[in-house]
Amino acid sequence: MKKQEVFKVYQDDILNTYTRQPRIFVKGKGMTLVDIDGKKYLDFFPGWGVSNLGHCHPKVMSAIRDQVSKLIHIPNNFYNVQQAKLAEALVYHTFPSKVFFCNSGTEANEAAIKFSRAYGEGKRFEIITFENSFHGRTMGSLAATGQKKYQDGFAPLPEGFKTVKFNSLPALEQAISDKTIAIMLELVQGEGGINVADRSYVYKIREICNNKNILMIVDEVQTGIGRTAKMFAFQHYGIKPDIITLAKALGGGLPIGAMIVRKEIADTFKPGMHASTFGGGLVICKAALGVLRAIRKENMLKNASKMSTYIFDKLDHMKSKYKIIKTVRGIGLMIGIELNIEGKPIVEECLNRGMVINCTHNTVLRIMPALNVTKKQADKALHILGKALLKFSR
Ligand SMILES: *Cc1c(COP(=O)(O)O)cnc(C)c1O
Repeated sequence: MKKQEVFKVYQDDILNTYTRQPRIFVKGKGMTLVDIDGKKYLDFFPGWGVSNLGHCHPKVMSAIRDQVSKLIHIPNNFYNVQQAKLAEALVYHTFPSKVFFCNSGTEANEAAIKFSRAYGEGKRFEIITFENSFHGRTMGSLAATGQKKYQDGFAPLPEGFKTVKFNSLPALEQAISDKTIAIMLELVQGEGGINVADRSYVYKIREICNNKNILMIVDEVQTGIGRTAKMFAFQHYGIKPDIITLAKALGGGLPIGAMIVRKEIADTFKPGMHASTFGGGLVICKAALGVLRAIRKENMLKNASKMSTYIFDKLDHMKSKYKIIKTVRGIGLMIGIELNIEGKPIVEECLNRGMVINCTHNTVLRIMPALNVTKKQADKALHILGKALLKFSR
């Protein structure tokens, strides 16, 4: 298909739910993407944090190839070895727990919402979430999402959700009632503009949850799998959640979601209470094992941590140079640059100069390089970003 034909089919035959950049990518390797015209791009926003190892990592590709040639799908009323291995690995990387597999972030959060309701036994059912949070697009996760713009037009949403101000203790304490069953949060709000939860606040939430037997659900869909330079963001905070939800980077580019629940409460879910046809499929679980292995074998968390310091230092320097930068924030390689102008033209300028980045919340540029990003790639990216910022600096 020719470029213009593809655009035409999208216009005629595909529902118009995304604002798309007019680029068609056909190949990717590591942090490089190639479009249909053969132009190369440095990918500093690999799929909303899906391709944390860069594109087409050899360990992920070989895992997929190997499994595809053996068996692709077996339903969940049978056992499968890859699901067992992945569950074992996830429990090892988190805390004593059990795993439920699904296919996306929103589904992982739906599972957590249903789990909480089940845990409340009909007596407690309210879930407290936060302003500017994002938990997904299906009805339950959408109700949990603390941003009106995603909810507008879809009323009535499921009941039992309360949204409070992020990082505010009084707001949270006021919202808690004898109906509260869970508090659900992102430790770094991704779609909400890279807002980092305060350490003392998170500690306090854990304390409240302990005292009142409330479940602490941490949505690690975007922060998980090394994005913050630890395997999971909660590991920066010295606490253990009761539930974490995962998706995005876990499958190395294939769709997967997971809800991980503290072992002592895991038996809340009994056979028949929740299910997913594709959840924990052979190919995807094998791919995810490839992801975890690559992170470990190639010391990617260490690299992410080192590169995080390097990039934040450079960005702080840029901040003193470009007055349009308001703040720079984030953890690890989850980086937000808040501007005092709209971010969209900067994103387009970067794209024209051969780099993919993102803008969220209108004014926050988001860069999330792969965990194996090199100094050379970071320098190139910051150079391009600098040029783009300069262009709009008056
Ligand atoms: C992307 C995202 C989701 C939704 O994931 P999908 O796979 O698109 O359903 C949920 N929570 C957070 C924090 C996310 O970043």
